[in-house]
Amino acid sequence: MITVDIDKNSGFCAGVIRAIGKAEEFLNDKDGSPKRLYSLGAIVHNDSELERLQKQGLVTIDNEDFEEMVNAEGEVLLIRAHGEPPQTYTRAESLGFSIIDCTCPVVLKLQQRIKEAYMAQAKEGSGQIIIFGKIGHAEVLGLIGQTDGTAIVVEDMRMMEQAVKEGSIRLDVSTEVFSQTTKSPAEYRSLCSRLEEMMARHNELSVERFKGKNLLKVHDTICSQVATRHERLSKFALEHDLIVFVAGKASSNGKVLCDLCKSMNIRTYHIDSPSEIKREWFRADDKVGVCGATSTPKWLLEETARHILELNRYVPEWEKTFGEKDADNQ
Ligand code: SF4
Repeated sequence: MITVDIDKNSGFCAGVIRAIGKAEEFLNDKDGSPKRLYSLGAIVHNDSELERLQKQGLVTIDNEDFEEMVNAEGEVLLIRAHGEPPQTYTRAESLGFSIIDCTCPVVLKLQQRIKEAYMAQAKEGSGQIIIFGKIGHAEVLGLIGQTDGTAIVVEDMRMMEQAVKEGSIRLDVSTEVFSQTTKSPAEYRSLCSRLEEMMARHNELSVERFKGKNLLKVHDTICSQVATRHERLSKFALEHDLIVFVAGKASSNGKVLCDLCKSMNIRTYHIDSPSEIKREWFRADDKVGVCGATSTPKWLLEETARHILELNRYVPEWEKTFGEKDADNQ
């Protein structure tokens, strides 16, 4: 008989919970008047959760909409947990928006650290800042914004090696490396070791002697919630016969975590919503694990588990396993 476990470590991270909480607090203000709250980009990469918030008055706009706006007097703009570059705040204020800033404190601290590194290098008159992150991602744009657009972004090892080859990353100047908060800790470690190796060789030093030169500073900036999730999720993926990974396909963190599950368990399926689940994925007696990204709501993981059991005609087991669906949680 099929059994289904929900990963208790999956679900929204603290930054997303905080942003949604602030949005709902504004939208459901006690005065009872209907409210409208603009969000620059999706507050969470999850369509079902977005629909729920839209019904309360959340309006998601993209950068193009924001650039085309001419007047937003009296309107309120929410800045997501990912954060934004300084120019966004300037433009929002000049349009007349009031701002609800939901930048995650962890991202905020990272922005400050990058800014400090950039200012120190500017004072010294040389140096470079490298960000390991996804090009075009809102958090990364916010980070580049702290360096007047000068930071070099690399998405992976191949891109970093290419940048070295082309000379856009130099091996002879003071270098500080930071990671987007949701990247893979293992990938970040290997990328930094490779860079250290290349810089040491370029400077004709052993790696050990190169370390003493302080030419390369690697900052540990991956969110601890994400880092611990990596370890626990690897274990969860190994302990189950099949993994159903629930996350919006646009979620950067979702892609990283789903790839991690796939590397541990080849029978991993990435879905946006339970309607994508296919009966033929399952075998009798499969121990199924349901998990998700930092943008996946708990209620959607529960709905997915229910759907799997229903598909496999074990509705009574669902009731025994999870109890009645919690209406407040919807
Ligand atoms: S993943 Fe971490 S840094 Fe990013 S929003 Fe969530 S809590 Fe904040």
